[in-house]
Amino acid sequence: MKTIETLIIGGGLSGLYAAGLLAEKNLPFILLEARERIGGRILSIEHKGFFTDMGPSWYWPEINPKLTGLIRSLGIHGYPQFEEGLGRLEHPNGQIQTVKGFATEPVSWRINGGMQSIVNKLAALLPEKTVKLKNPVCEIEKAPGGALVRVGELELEPINQFMARRIILAIPPRLAAATILFTPDIPHHLTQAMLRTGTWMAGQAKFFTLYDVPCWRKAGLSGQAFSQRGPLGEIHDGSSQEEGPYGLTGFLGIPAFQRKDNQSLTRAILDQLASIYGDTAAQPTAFYYQDWAREKYTATEFDQPPMYEHPIYQPPAGQISIWDGIIHFAGTETADRQGGYLEGALVSAQRAVDNIYPS
Ligand SMILES: Cc1cc2nc3c(=O)[nH]c(=O)nc-3n(C[C@H](O)[C@H](O)[C@H](O)COP(=O)(O)OP(=O)(O)OC[C@H]3O[C@@H](n4cnc5c(N)ncnc54)[C@H](O)[C@@H]3O)c2cc1C
Repeated sequence: MKTIETLIIGGGLSGLYAAGLLAEKNLPFILLEARERIGGRILSIEHKGFFTDMGPSWYWPEINPKLTGLIRSLGIHGYPQFEEGLGRLEHPNGQIQTVKGFATEPVSWRINGGMQSIVNKLAALLPEKTVKLKNPVCEIEKAPGGALVRVGELELEPINQFMARRIILAIPPRLAAATILFTPDIPHHLTQAMLRTGTWMAGQAKFFTLYDVPCWRKAGLSGQAFSQRGPLGEIHDGSSQEEGPYGLTGFLGIPAFQRKDNQSLTRAILDQLASIYGDTAAQPTAFYYQDWAREKYTATEFDQPPMYEHPIYQPPAGQISIWDGIIHFAGTETADRQGGYLEGALVSAQRAVDNIYPS
């Protein structure tokens, strides 16, 4: 078996950015991605040329220097979140109040072409056949000169295996500890630290509705609403920068265990939109829903309860690599700056590559 210099596990933003950094230096690598698509938590679904972001939709140019630079270098354009007009507040008893609206600070920006355009453009710059989809890693075994990586389901015959000199582990640490077998065992305190590291937004679900006409804007509303009743907890205008399509998008406010029946949930979401914005809001031209808590390559059982605060992320147990530099941690939850966010995905990837190839 040929030894791969650097094997990247995970084709989200972090893994793809690490791949891009290696490719820029003409360094060899292979990237293994479990899903049939790249992007991980980044997912934009196309509707007639418009892209609905079902994962991240915002970046903050004022505090995301790496991401803003990357977006610019890839020739992608952003635009500020629409916030003109009044907001709505839904009380637990269903009473709806019109409020001043909450201006985000720093200003949130959306991406023309959706967040997916970042990962698509990054992947297009990589050498051919370096990204292998449908390759879920199930085991990493230390071996002379590196590690043997098995792909498939544990206990079953592997569908693929690779010998790697080094590994960049670009998946959430909690998911890695819960789903990948490390041989020999990684230290107990490290496994615990990985399991304790909540995967940011993994327990969330998001909706997106599209319209030809923005009824809320016509009524002087910004589209921003907060609800203490549910099922939606937070709503924003998700419209295109152009003259349509117009969209409402946001997060479910109820925990994962209450989100089992998609049909009644869809009805409840549309009813809630009607009560907040008027009846036409319940007749979108398209409706999308994504429950990240049910995604086995994002969330574990530990991610099902809601996370109320943004954790302070850092490399697991303070370690940026293990096994004498064979495995290097990347992925946003291992970043010591902007962890959990897209910016953290880049920060951690850069650290892993710099650690392997110090300049
Ligand atoms: C609903 C939602 C809204 C968000 N909003 C924002 C926002 O507005 N702004 C912001 O900055 N951030 C936001 N985030 C967070 C942002 O999405 C993440 O910070 C970022 O996408 C993480 O990238 P990553 O590459 O570190 O991890 P991931 O995107 O999770 O990538 C990990 C990759 O590893 C793959 N994988 C998993 N297991 C295996 C395995 N065993 N073998 C091989 N591959 C595997 C996965 O399929 C995935 O592709 C949001 C997230 C969600 C879910």
